[in-house]
Amino acid sequence: MADSKKVRKEDLAGLLTEWSRDYAVLAPSRADGVARMAAWDGEDISFLDWYRNTINPVKSLFLPPVEEMFSISRNERGHRIELPPKDDTGCLVFGVRPCDARSLILLDVVFEDAYEDPYYLDRRRRSIVVGLCCTNPCDSCFCTSVDSGPAATAGMDIMFTDIGDNLLVEGISRKGKELVAGNATLAKATRTDENRARKIRLAAEKKITRKIDTGDSKERLLAVFEDESFWQQVSAKCVSCGVCTLLCPTCYCFDINDAMTGGEGSRCRSLDSCAFSSYTKMPMENPRADKWRRVRNKLCHKYEFYPMLFDNIACTGCGRCIRLCPVNWDITQVLDSLPAKHESKI
Ligand code: SF4
Ligand code: SF4
Repeated sequence: MADSKKVRKEDLAGLLTEWSRDYAVLAPSRADGVARMAAWDGEDISFLDWYRNTINPVKSLFLPPVEEMFSISRNERGHRIELPPKDDTGCLVFGVRPCDARSLILLDVVFEDAYEDPYYLDRRRRSIVVGLCCTNPCDSCFCTSVDSGPAATAGMDIMFTDIGDNLLVEGISRKGKELVAGNATLAKATRTDENRARKIRLAAEKKITRKIDTGDSKERLLAVFEDESFWQQVSAKCVSCGVCTLLCPTCYCFDINDAMTGGEGSRCRSLDSCAFSSYTKMPMENPRADKWRRVRNKLCHKYEFYPMLFDNIACTGCGRCIRLCPVNWDITQVLDSLPAKHESKI
């Protein structure tokens, strides 16, 4: 916690107002009983009391559910393509939970690996991710099983921890440290503040009681991959609604469509889900017509294929797919039920 700072809770609105001069500030906001990141209204910091996590993962700020890639217009000389207006505004997202911050590291690799995705990367480069340590995790969270935890800082620029009357503030990345250094609203944290933060973080970790052993999940999935009866059983209750993938912070599949009416139109991309029978139907049939193959793909993508490619589990343990599934499909139960490698029939 070297060089950590603190801000009094009553001064947080002032700090966010200061940052609002240089950045579009987003913070947790509640409407219809659902928490979302929204433009900060300039005064409300009540989220410190009620906020656990947003329904949409933070990925939706960088990979929106739907976005126009360019517009098309036709005239007598041919087609004209116009990119969306360039936005140079920086964006500061306050209150990102550690699981969601980690998801950005997993997505960054994808969007700058085989090709550079200018839409995603431009938003990422203009963003400051300000994390907020979880002190009240949900029952469905299992981040400590996937190399993370309620106080993990991976993917953050700055980390805040609620220590009572104050928030402890730590610069994590270079740009986060720069933003924190020399800020007059922030005071130097004392040894007592840091010890308090340590205790609060340890207590938060202890609240995560849902645990799974992910140590050899890749090998266990590989061993059971061709076992149709296992996957039939595992997928039986899934209704292929796609919620678990669309709201998963690490799922990134998208579809691209062109629409033209008269001489005007646009190319849009929208999130897609491997849970849908219509997924990858273009230019041929979905190779995973059977539901069990689609459920298998969803799980194997996170715990087998992505780790094979990038040496990292593509699940942050955020628990959204457990909380939001209409039929209570539970990824931790399925991972737990994977036969040990030597028990596999294959
Ligand atoms: S949310 Fe549940 S029912 Fe919907 S696709 Fe995912 S596992 Fe299936
Ligand atoms: S698979 Fe489930 S728990 Fe894992 S990151 Fe996605 S939504 Fe969160």
